[in-house]
Amino acid sequence: MASKLVSLSKFTSFSRQAFHGIRYCSGINFELTPQQKEFQDTSRRFARDEIIPVAAHYDKTGEYPWPVLKKAWELGLINQAVPEEYGGLGLPLVDMCINAIELAFGCTGISTAIGANDLAEAPVILGGSHEIKKKFLGRMTEEPLIAAYCVTEPDCGSDVSGIKTTAVKKGNEWVINGNKMWITNGGYANWYFLLARSDPNAKTGDAFTAFVVERDTPGITPGKKEWNMGQRASNTAGVTFEDVVIPNENVLGAPGKGFKIAMGAFDLTRPAVAAGAVGLAQRALEEATKYALTRKTFGKYLIDHQAVAFILANMAIGIESSRLCTYRSAWEADQGRQNTYYASIAKALAADVAMKCTTDAVQVFGGAGYNSEYPVEKLMRDAKIFQIYEGTAQVQRVVISRIIEQYAKSTM
Ligand SMILES: Cc1cc2nc3c(=O)[nH]c(=O)nc-3n(C[C@H](O)[C@H](O)[C@H](O)COP(=O)(O)OP(=O)(O)OC[C@H]3O[C@@H](n4cnc5c(N)ncnc54)[C@H](O)[C@@H]3O)c2cc1C
Repeated sequence: MASKLVSLSKFTSFSRQAFHGIRYCSGINFELTPQQKEFQDTSRRFARDEIIPVAAHYDKTGEYPWPVLKKAWELGLINQAVPEEYGGLGLPLVDMCINAIELAFGCTGISTAIGANDLAEAPVILGGSHEIKKKFLGRMTEEPLIAAYCVTEPDCGSDVSGIKTTAVKKGNEWVINGNKMWITNGGYANWYFLLARSDPNAKTGDAFTAFVVERDTPGITPGKKEWNMGQRASNTAGVTFEDVVIPNENVLGAPGKGFKIAMGAFDLTRPAVAAGAVGLAQRALEEATKYALTRKTFGKYLIDHQAVAFILANMAIGIESSRLCTYRSAWEADQGRQNTYYASIAKALAADVAMKCTTDAVQVFGGAGYNSEYPVEKLMRDAKIFQIYEGTAQVQRVVISRIIEQYAKSTM
């Protein structure tokens, strides 16, 4: 713990300077501060030294990467949004994205396991009382623990307003019944963020209540690990709630007002998800470029065939564009402004770019790209989920187009 405290204070002073440096600079500035660069370097070394050497193992076995997560926790690379008041770093979102790009470069299965804590914590940060924050966020900084965000159900993911899990108020407690599906960290969480329907007749904005719930509450049963296409180091599981009793003080915000809290969390987490996709795409470019520099066909290195070089150039164009959108979306939130529009743009673009770049990296590798002894087939499998979780590619476009529409109407 002592070493963690050193790194906490170090990073916290870095972030404050970084934050104020960005906030008060005039005009546009693409330069990371020296402190952000140092922070980036720490994450980068962690990915190179601690993640990449074991990534294939966790991908093949599907084991939960506890040893890596514990080391990440020791270095302050996890739970970075937890406010300083509760023992965390309280990092600006831009700094979190810098970190997320580097970790994802190592393995997005592992970085998703790390990032899922931020997803569970975001609604608590947004809607939790001081006591709830102290209790649930505080413990995350005291020992390496995992949390999970439980919203999706077997019958609905994109259409969150369709969820069927019920919350019934009985005296000073709530009784929960229902099934959650596809929950990242679901099998390992110490506590869950939970969204349940508390009023069957109300409109969406008044129909759902948000809770935090201890994993060891009677009636909670996590399901088996789902064997997914990619990101296999990350745990995905269903979670069943059967007559689970939650005290009223565990309600986030007001009863009935949970939908806004659950959706508002995405403004804080989609930039970091986009950052993960950027890191993955960057890895694909690096692997493809190295291969193109060593593999010869028709008497030339692959990179000397213009058709291959242009594939690499197009990958770079996509990556740099999505990196900028990602930072912009995080920066907007750091200014205290609504970033929904930018977060959806960044998430949609970065996910599509990651899918394209990893597919192209497989192409550059030829037959070797299709084989699991080489690194890029894992990258391609890992990429797909970025177009699905935390709002699919289509849902991001629904969000963006609605905002464009509202804006246009407001100016007509
Ligand atoms: C590995 C993994 C981890 C996950 N982690 C979590 C987690 O931690 N917590 C959590 O709560 N959930 C989690 N999810 C769930 C995830 O967020 C949902 O799978 C996702 O939102 C899509 O929902 P769905 O699977 O029900 O697909 P559906 O909503 O059924 O969508 C199916 C298809 O229809 C499209 N579609 C749906 N509605 C529209 C529309 N209005 N317009 C255009 N196209 C539309 C979608 O884009 C998609 O292509 C995870 C999922 C996976 C696979």
